[in-house]
Amino acid sequence: MKGKVYLIGAGPGDYELLTLKGFNCIKNADVVVYDRLANDSFLKETKDNCEFIYVGKESKNHTKTQDEINEIIAEEALKGKIVARLKGGDPYVFGRGGEEGEFLLEKGVDFEVVPGITSAIGGLCYAGIPITHRDYASSFHVITGHLKEEDKELNWEALAKLDGTLVFLMGMANLQNICNNLIKEGKCKDTPVAIINWATRPEQKVVTGTLENIYEVVQREGIKPPSLIVVGGVVGLRDKLNFFEKKPLFSKNIVVTRARTQSSKLVDELKGLGANVIEFPTIKIEEITPNEEMDNSIRGLKEYSYVVFTSINGVNIFFKRLMDLGFDSRVFGNTKIVAIGSSTAKELAKYGLRADIVPEKFVAEELVKELEKVITKEDKILIPRASEAREILVEKLSKLCIVKEVKIYDTIVGEGNKEEIIKLLKNDKIDYITFTSSSTVKNLVKILGEENLSLLDKVKLMSIGPITSKTIEEFGLRVYREAEEYTISGLVVSLLVG
Ligand code: SAH
Repeated sequence: MKGKVYLIGAGPGDYELLTLKGFNCIKNADVVVYDRLANDSFLKETKDNCEFIYVGKESKNHTKTQDEINEIIAEEALKGKIVARLKGGDPYVFGRGGEEGEFLLEKGVDFEVVPGITSAIGGLCYAGIPITHRDYASSFHVITGHLKEEDKELNWEALAKLDGTLVFLMGMANLQNICNNLIKEGKCKDTPVAIINWATRPEQKVVTGTLENIYEVVQREGIKPPSLIVVGGVVGLRDKLNFFEKKPLFSKNIVVTRARTQSSKLVDELKGLGANVIEFPTIKIEEITPNEEMDNSIRGLKEYSYVVFTSINGVNIFFKRLMDLGFDSRVFGNTKIVAIGSSTAKELAKYGLRADIVPEKFVAEELVKELEKVITKEDKILIPRASEAREILVEKLSKLCIVKEVKIYDTIVGEGNKEEIIKLLKNDKIDYITFTSSSTVKNLVKILGEENLSLLDKVKLMSIGPITSKTIEEFGLRVYREAEEYTISGLVVSLLVG
């Protein structure tokens, strides 16, 4: 097959500011070539066997020159691969996309360019600065602060005369020079200036001042590249339009310990609230190899008067086997369905089934209470669930009627990167850790090692409910806050309380 290169604008940083077209290209790519300014969350979306080539500044080997990058992308495409070359912002806004395109043409490599949201516009937006506004600026100008030939100067005289918003990229090393030249050529020294560091990311930091004093402010606050320099009256609108930094969890570093397959709801909600989410899956779900016991329970499902689903995983794994065996939802017949937790009930709804009983509180004890009201000795209950699940449910229900527990999945210790999390803890880069079950607590302790537990003393430990809290306390740790409603949404609410 013929290879092809897609030069993709990945947007200014926020993962969701990528175009749909760019996203689809990434999903189809055989090789992804990316650098520091492209958000690496995209890498999760690729095909299973996709290769990654990092060509950014902190590259392990050495900094790749533009020529080397050109060679890499052309070579991969000539091998017949689909290459996604991710570039921060828009590929043609100081992204050297034009040069890459020319090179590919020369080599006879097919290519396409996917425009992106440039930091020069989108970055300002997230800092609460509209690049134009009828009262302040009727044009905008995006300027490099770093010319190809170092000894050449920009036309300061012309730039100083412009009324529109000036946005300098790659200008931090040259900030003082930029301000001095603009003042010298006649721009008012009180013209507002904003510096936006890591725009649209959870770590976004913005400082403001004037042409006269911004250099001093930047020195004092230690603002570094990558940053945007914005000059003009629109900077003043930031106080009113700064929606991003006003998000309730903005800049909070929150660790999610759930299994990756289950974490998306929590991760998405937290990101939407402005948090910097650090995914550290402490659990991995592993289906148990189908066996006779499992299959018999599915074949004989009609004989049970109740089936209890305790988790989303339980529902999906059970249904997968059920369908593999050639059945569909009709096997449930008149069997009543019980779901622990509204999300488990929602998952069942995807298979066209409505849960008959959803206990108000999402713990086993509550379920036993509910079932006690309706169950007789003649009833038979099937519980397909995790092999490590708490005994209490089966124990208590067995006193009321026949109970059959079938183990359909294991929850094993996840593959979170221990060194990385320890580094973050040591550098005070974590504000909260969320625990959504006792296993997440136990496994985090297992991964960290008891000797490192004291690192958790400074972090706010958030628990989804009483059972999880108890486990946290059993390790001598302190629960900072427990969710009032024992659900993911309840946990999010408790984070919003602070
Ligand atoms: N093609 C990119 C720009 C590449 S030049 C775009 O369209 O956005 C690199 C410069 O862009 C950096 O030096 C910095 O000035 C700016 N930049 C890119 N992303 C940024 C971000 N998230 N925050 C602040 N500045 C950013």
